[in-house]
Amino acid sequence: MKRTLLAVTCAVAVAMLLSCTSKQEKMENRMKKFLAGHEARVIPLYREAALTSWDANISGTDEDYARSEKASFELAKVYTDSIAFAELKSIKESGAVKDPLLTRQIEVLYNSYLGGQVDPSLLEEQIRMETEISKKFSTFRAVVSGKELSDNQVEEILRSSVKSSELQAAWEAHKQIGPLVAEDIIRLVKHRNMIAQKTGFSNFHEMSLKLSGQDPAEVTTIFDELDNLTRDSFAVLKDEIDTYFSSYYKIGKDNLRPWHYQNRYFQEAPAIYSVDFDRYYENLDPVRLAATFYDGIGLNVDAILAASDLYEKPGKNQHAFSTDIDREGDVRTLDNIRPDSYWMNTILHELGHGVYSYYNDRELPFTLRDAAHMFTTEAVANLFGRLATDPLWMQKMGIIDDEEKERISEMSHKALRLQMLVFSRWAQVMYRFEKSMYENPDQDLNQLWWDTVAKYQMLQKPEGRDMPDWATKIHIALYPCYYHNYLLGELLASQWYSHITTHVTDNPAFAGDKAVGEYLKEQVFKPGMRYYWNEMIERSTGEKLTARYYARQFVE
Ligand SMILES: [Zn+2]
Repeated sequence: MKRTLLAVTCAVAVAMLLSCTSKQEKMENRMKKFLAGHEARVIPLYREAALTSWDANISGTDEDYARSEKASFELAKVYTDSIAFAELKSIKESGAVKDPLLTRQIEVLYNSYLGGQVDPSLLEEQIRMETEISKKFSTFRAVVSGKELSDNQVEEILRSSVKSSELQAAWEAHKQIGPLVAEDIIRLVKHRNMIAQKTGFSNFHEMSLKLSGQDPAEVTTIFDELDNLTRDSFAVLKDEIDTYFSSYYKIGKDNLRPWHYQNRYFQEAPAIYSVDFDRYYENLDPVRLAATFYDGIGLNVDAILAASDLYEKPGKNQHAFSTDIDREGDVRTLDNIRPDSYWMNTILHELGHGVYSYYNDRELPFTLRDAAHMFTTEAVANLFGRLATDPLWMQKMGIIDDEEKERISEMSHKALRLQMLVFSRWAQVMYRFEKSMYENPDQDLNQLWWDTVAKYQMLQKPEGRDMPDWATKIHIALYPCYYHNYLLGELLASQWYSHITTHVTDNPAFAGDKAVGEYLKEQVFKPGMRYYWNEMIERSTGEKLTARYYARQFVE
């Protein structure tokens, strides 16, 4: 009896197993079919969009920009396909796909297609609103005593003037853009929220993070951790800055106002420690130095440099970026290199993005052959960019001698520490303000801005000021909910730096150490998007993303 029962149970179990397997197999086949169709459409369009954008950034001509815009539009259109989305959704919701590479592709593609399901007329309206605000920003000029000033000129005054009245006038003049755009921005914020709600999210901030593969609660936890780790040290440093400026401007500490910090937003370190790094590079070739360095750590960049556009040209984009044209090894960087420390940092930074792409795993499916997240490629770029002003690296690369290294070592560390702490507190302001603004755009945003600035940057609001100063930061309107990634990139750069210098090499300058390149290739570049970013970080460093190593490097 027992035996029969057992036999029956087994038979049921086998039957169930068989039906599970066949359902799994069926769904996995459906997903493979979906991917085949998706890749056939997206791969050529991706390449075309990358190539035309590259050409436009180099030539700067209207025709090239028009071609680039058209190609980007064609690529974006793939993700608006509602029939494809319905198929993907049904596969996802079946829960039957078990293969890890397939489930990961479902996750990544589901977010991309979900973002594309917005009613096109709402999207058009959003772009129209953004363009309008963008025009106002482009054409606005601060006016001081009847003279029009560009942003660069305002920054120049803030950096160099020692007269409070002049500083205040320049600062207030640039803030005049606020009232011109504030109402437009609030309308745009509400419009973005409406789109987010129609897509199933509570607001646009949540939607932006989730669609980019970030959990807002996870990001907030990391920001809280960093706030706790930096608050006291920043308070001490801020007091040092205030003491310095009090004597510099010959006014009491209590009279220092936001215009006394040499920058419109106090987002960069004021020049209270000075090492002139530019003079070390004035007779050197940053490209050759970078190529030698990367080759030395086992990440040869000759192919990337050969495909790149490195120097200034008429019409060319004046900034710098790196691009992966085809995820098959055509990786390029656009720069405008001059022999100074800024461009030494930049070429190391851009080639950091470059090696992340170039040394990917060609066996991975196209969708996953990319950085785990935008901020993880930023982290690799920062890890290497920071070396440009690291005396240890400069000495190893033969840029300075041992004696000079000793001489500037402490001052360089202080300057970098100041830069990192100031930036981290500013990034807190941006993250907290945007999050709260999207949660409730009807609150008193002027007050919210200054409360946040006082809390994180410890700056004093000018008496009685009730102006939309938040609206003057162009990122709020036009590059929304992205700023936090810059800070996450810095945190991760520190976490990798600590891991590499503890477990991979005892050479903190990395130069000449092939183990560094090998580690990054195997643990970071090749995995691509195979894992959720925090899983990749845990696999490559033994723990999830944490602010502790950043704090250890720059706070303690
Ligand atoms: Zn970058």
